[in-house]
Amino acid sequence: MNWDTYHITERLRDIKYYACPHCGAQAIVLTALETEQLPERDENGHCQYHCIAYHRYFSVDAYQSIFQEKGIK
Ligand SMILES: [Zn+2]
Repeated sequence: MNWDTYHITERLRDIKYYACPHCGAQAIVLTALETEQLPERDENGHCQYHCIAYHRYFSVDAYQSIFQEKGIK
């Protein structure tokens, strides 16, 4: 594991979970399927999270504030 990979892994661990704004359960960051290393980004570059309990998606920006929320219709 090179240093860049180590850094990314540490970063991903830091941001892997986020409290769901709807129900307070842990939501899990979406990762790119090809690598399972880099978080999936929305069109604004924000990390996307999936609340498993209620199947809602929301995005969190680099300052860890919730930028937008969206549910499955
Ligand atoms: Zn939730």
